[in-house]
Amino acid sequence: MADLKKEPPTHNPDDVGTVYLVGAGPGDPALLTLRGYEVLTSCDAIVYDRLAASVLPPDLRPEVELHFVGKRADRHHLPQEEINSLLIRLAQAGQAVCRLKGGDPFVFARGCEEAEALRREGVPFEIVPGVTAGIAAAAYAGIPVTRRGEAVRVCLVTAHEDPTKPTNQVDWKALGSDPHGTVAAYMPVANLAVVVSELIAGGLDPNTPAAVIERGTMPGQRTVAAPLHELAVKVQEAGICPPALFVVGKTVALQKKLAWRTERPLSGKRVIVTRPADQARELITSLRDLGVEPLICPSIQTVPASESELVPLVSNLHEYDWIFFTSENGARYFMTMLQALDLDIRALGGARIAAVGRGTELRLQQYYLRADFVPTAFRGEVMLREFLAQVSVEGLKILRVRGDRGPATLEQGLRGAGATVDTVLAYHIQAAELRPDVADAITADGAHAITFTSGSSVESFETLMPDHGLHASVPAVCIGPVTAKVAGEVGWQRVVTATVSTVMGLVDCLSDTLTEA
Ligand code: SAH
Repeated sequence: MADLKKEPPTHNPDDVGTVYLVGAGPGDPALLTLRGYEVLTSCDAIVYDRLAASVLPPDLRPEVELHFVGKRADRHHLPQEEINSLLIRLAQAGQAVCRLKGGDPFVFARGCEEAEALRREGVPFEIVPGVTAGIAAAAYAGIPVTRRGEAVRVCLVTAHEDPTKPTNQVDWKALGSDPHGTVAAYMPVANLAVVVSELIAGGLDPNTPAAVIERGTMPGQRTVAAPLHELAVKVQEAGICPPALFVVGKTVALQKKLAWRTERPLSGKRVIVTRPADQARELITSLRDLGVEPLICPSIQTVPASESELVPLVSNLHEYDWIFFTSENGARYFMTMLQALDLDIRALGGARIAAVGRGTELRLQQYYLRADFVPTAFRGEVMLREFLAQVSVEGLKILRVRGDRGPATLEQGLRGAGATVDTVLAYHIQAAELRPDVADAITADGAHAITFTSGSSVESFETLMPDHGLHASVPAVCIGPVTAKVAGEVGWQRVVTATVSTVMGLVDCLSDTLTEA
């Protein structure tokens, strides 16, 4: 983006960076604004709270500095003063800083105090408004906050203060005297019963339609609706927890007719996703669609290899009869290497292409390469067996594109059958870094399941969270038998394996596992 500073942190410290106070919206990542997304994906540092974390894309730039200042398992929020100082310090070091907050940064979010502190220190800032929960959570529950002739005002109000305390500044009785308005109250869970009785004492009809929406717009959204005087009991019975929004007014009745975002089959389940971030999008989207709250915890990341192994082969690439791609990453990094050497698919001549599975096949299609051979199951040994059954490899020249882990059985098998096999290293696998809010969420609240899509991600998760304590209680849902074997070996006590070794197969298996439990 044009006006975000991109200089490395070592540049002239007199050059102060800008702080972007960005509203993340109410939780559904699709409700982040375009400007918010631009800032998020191009800034140098992100300072964020728990409520805003769900919009962090799984494939954030690895260089970005993450500062989690939300409530943590081991302590409370970072005090506001310290957050202000952090923002100022980062900006003064020349960083473009995204201060990401749930909803809108100026609605019950202390964005104003942060802007004031920045102005005092002469730090430039920009405000990126967000979709606020008071309107969006209601809308996702089918509740319009205004309606011609019925609700001509909407009041966004905090229910955080106990109305019976003298310090409370909200005049609930006055709000109760307005039959033509909608009240959308933030942070209502602790004080709901007393807030309701104040509204009724102020004159509001006890039968006015009312609702509490828990985790509005998020995968686990739930709505409890009832006449005002019955609401508090119903909310308690349902065990509603923050974040939740209280809405009362005539238009809340429309919820019966307009509710469109209904509860999903796996609503309320929390699942750890260890798949590498740049490949996790399909899995995460499918999980959210089912109502699962994904705990995004990629345990490995891939980095490109140098072109050194490809260079000596490059002028003879067209001589290969077959090129074997055994992962999506291999396909992607190999093609990037070709591009880096100023080449394109023509360098491959008439070589035929073998892809280990659907994902690899689809990735190759992006480079206009069609796979000539795909085994019936997504596994190296099946690939070898079926390939040898179909193709007589004696005397053929084969190139195998590989990562730095995983067995060499494929090339050995092909050589054993009489082929000449060269290999080229396209990428390395490394342990990823754990996102602080996710580590915290897992420690504080645990999970209902964990998903693994490769043996190396199983192993790396143990390194990433050595004291996780989940082996006995959490099922490990694995994409295939090889991954499952490793999961068993490192200590997961309940290991389930997808019948079909694809991301969708994994999702089906997870769904069965969580519904049985
Ligand atoms: N700046 C935020 C509000 C922060 S105060 C905004 O504009 O939305 C935090 C409170 O907001 C929560 O306690 C809850 O009352 C409400 N809230 C935030 N996200 C919510 C969500 N997804 N569903 C329901 N209420 C939510």
